[in-house]
Amino acid sequence: MIVAIDGPAGAGKSTIANKLSQMLNIHHMDSGAIYRCYALAAVEANLDTQSPSDMQNIVKNSSVRADYSVTPAKFFLNNKEVGETIRENRISSQVSFVAIHKCVRDAVVENLRETSKEHNFVVEGRDIGSVVFPNAEHKFFLTASIEVRAKRRFRDLQSAGEDISFEQLCEDIERRDHIDSTRDIAPLTQASDAQLVDSSNMNIDEVVKHLNQMISPL
Ligand code: C5P
Repeated sequence: MIVAIDGPAGAGKSTIANKLSQMLNIHHMDSGAIYRCYALAAVEANLDTQSPSDMQNIVKNSSVRADYSVTPAKFFLNNKEVGETIRENRISSQVSFVAIHKCVRDAVVENLRETSKEHNFVVEGRDIGSVVFPNAEHKFFLTASIEVRAKRRFRDLQSAGEDISFEQLCEDIERRDHIDSTRDIAPLTQASDAQLVDSSNMNIDEVVKHLNQMISPL
């Protein structure tokens, strides 16, 4: 079974996908983390994330893999665990450029589809219900107002010790959403058969309960 959760940055997809997967007793696949690993590879090699040839090099010479046997899953770039580095703002600010390239998207989509053969998953991302798993049994599009999303991310970054202003974060999120939803290949979109969930006025447990009720109504 695949449960697809798509939506813009900061909508709470990771936390909700994680809790929902535990409730359903299945695994959680974070597709954004795989894009972030490629972004980390490019940033650490001082390459240009907007250059198709630089990104082709990165895809050709990097191995990215995830270990879903542990919760939360662990991600590895060239066999080294990346931990929380992929969540740093220096990576968030580059990842949408990385995710534009066809070579990167092809590598990530293949990785996700291969992995899905092993277990049942709640998969979160931007194009999961529309492109990666169009036959997913359940599809949700999770969103929230920009103010609410920025506040959530701000709290996360502050507790991780990052120094960023709220205004800068709002701009970063809006820019990332714009790049993600206007790119040519697999843009951020609500699949026609996905259920829209606006979590602006809901807490995490309410959203998880709501999704669970839609998946297992009895
Ligand atoms: O979900 P997260 O914020 O970690 O995703 C990081 C970035 O990875 C997104 O902003 C987007 O550019 C890219 N992404 C994507 N398609 C996905 C998941 C993430 O393009 N399915």
